[in-house]
Amino acid sequence: MLNVIHYNKNSNRNVTGKRVETIKLTDRQEEIIRLVKEKQPITSEKIAGSLSLTRAALRPDLAILTMTGILEARPKVGYVYSKKPSYSIIYDYLKGIKAGEVMSKPVMVSEECTVYDGIVHLFLNDVGTLFIQSEGCLVGAVSRKDFLKIAIGGTDIHKVPIGIIMTRMPNIIYLKPEDSIYDAARKIIDHQIDSLPVVESVFEDDVEQLKVIGKVSKTNLTNLLIKMSENG
Ligand code: ADP
Repeated sequence: MLNVIHYNKNSNRNVTGKRVETIKLTDRQEEIIRLVKEKQPITSEKIAGSLSLTRAALRPDLAILTMTGILEARPKVGYVYSKKPSYSIIYDYLKGIKAGEVMSKPVMVSEECTVYDGIVHLFLNDVGTLFIQSEGCLVGAVSRKDFLKIAIGGTDIHKVPIGIIMTRMPNIIYLKPEDSIYDAARKIIDHQIDSLPVVESVFEDDVEQLKVIGKVSKTNLTNLLIKMSENG
């Protein structure tokens, strides 16, 4: 599907610097959109009349604008500005950015690490979630609330290993590097979590294990929003 970024004529790279396929609308096409927004529904005769063009001369522009979904042609009614494209443009855009392109470095600790040391890791690395690995593979996740729960319970946090309080596989929600940023946002909201490990599958004796290669957190997604806004 085409990425139509008609509100961002100067850039054909996405926020990660990757080239995206864009259509640059001509001044006449922009003028047609403006007219349709103002006078919708409007027939092609009226658009042609307003722009002092013949219908034949206008036809290629209308074809482009309907094909890309910016305008909708309603039989016997005329052209209307479709509400769908702006959403689908953003959807397509977010679908086009992959987790592997925006992921940041995860903080990994072992199951044997104590709760106390886990809290120290949170502070030192300025993160809210630690991912837990055993023999290089993902086995769990621990976040702020897990630490708070155990800390207010009066347990000796110097003795308890993090493996006791972590959320375990197979309950860990993760991303593959080729999953999109839209998928990441959807998972974060649907599962009410702050951070997703980005994993690659490794097979040992035909058993699939997950190796963590990065993470996508709410902070990564918010940074992306800022970059998208400042790119325009
Ligand atoms: P916080 O504890 O700061 O509210 P989260 O909302 O991310 O952070 O964590 C809520 C719960 O979800 C915690 O119990 C945590 O162990 C668990 N959790 C964190 N990340 C994941 C993940 N990627 N998949 C599954 N569970 C997770």
